[in-house]
Amino acid sequence: MRLAQAKGISPEEFRRKHTRSAGTVLLFNGTPNHTGKPSCSLYADGLGCSVHPSRPLACRLFPLGRQIQNGTAQYMHEGSEFPCLKECPEVLELPKLTVEEYLVGQETSAFEQAQDAYLEILQNLADIAFELLLDTGLAASGDTQTLASWRKLGTMDAVAQSKQIPAEWLDLLMIPDLQEHANELLDFVQWHQELLNTKIQELSETFSTLDAVREAAILMMALALFLSHSIGADSKGLSEHWIEIAKSHGAEEK
Ligand code: SF4
Repeated sequence: MRLAQAKGISPEEFRRKHTRSAGTVLLFNGTPNHTGKPSCSLYADGLGCSVHPSRPLACRLFPLGRQIQNGTAQYMHEGSEFPCLKECPEVLELPKLTVEEYLVGQETSAFEQAQDAYLEILQNLADIAFELLLDTGLAASGDTQTLASWRKLGTMDAVAQSKQIPAEWLDLLMIPDLQEHANELLDFVQWHQELLNTKIQELSETFSTLDAVREAAILMMALALFLSHSIGADSKGLSEHWIEIAKSHGAEEK
C-alpha cells in the first residue's frame, strides 16, 4: 500500500507492474547496475530509489537480515563480505556506525513492529486452520486429506500456492482496501486483521458439512503459508512443523 501510494498508483497496479511471485517479491527488471544485474523496477537511473521514504524493511536492513527464533530477533549477515563494500568502494568513506546506530538511521523500528504483527496474523490463520481440523470433529472423523493438502501446500512456491487461493481471498490478504491507514503501520496491520476476521467469520457461517470445514482448513493454511513467503518465513518448515503439531493432537495423515 505504501509503495503504491509513493508511486501514485493503486495497490493492484503496483502488484502487477512492480512485483513478481504473486506479489510477494519486488520485481528487478530495471537498467542493469554496475554488476550487470537488473536493478529494482523502483530504481530511477541517476536518482536512486524512487520510493525512498516508503522503502520496505528489507531495503532498510540491507545488507543485514533479521531473524526471529524462539521469540528473539537477531540481526545477521550471511557470508564474509558486505557486497556494498566490495561493489561501492565509496561506502568506505562514510562514517563508521554500530548496527544499532545504522538501524536508527534507517528508521527500521516501526517496520519491524509491523512485520512482527504480520507474523502474528500468520500464526492466527494457522490457529484457525488447527481449530477447524481438531475442534469440529473433522480429525475425529478419520480425515487424512487435510494434512495431505497442508503438506502439499508446504512444498509449493508462492505462485503455486496463490493458485490454490480464490482471488477474493488473495486480494484481501495482499491488497486490502485500507488506503486511509497506510501511514500508520501497526494500525494498518490491526485493521487488516479485522478485515480477515470478518471474512473468516462470514465463511464459518456457511459450514454445513465436514467437506466444507476441510476446505476452509486447507484455505486457512494456504493463506498462512502464502503470507509466510511475503514476510520471508520458511514456508516448508512451517507446514512440516504445523503438521507434526496436528498429528500430536490426533489428526491423521496417510
Ligand atoms: S531501496 Fe528497495 S525499493 Fe528502493 S530501489 Fe532499492 S530495492 Fe527497490
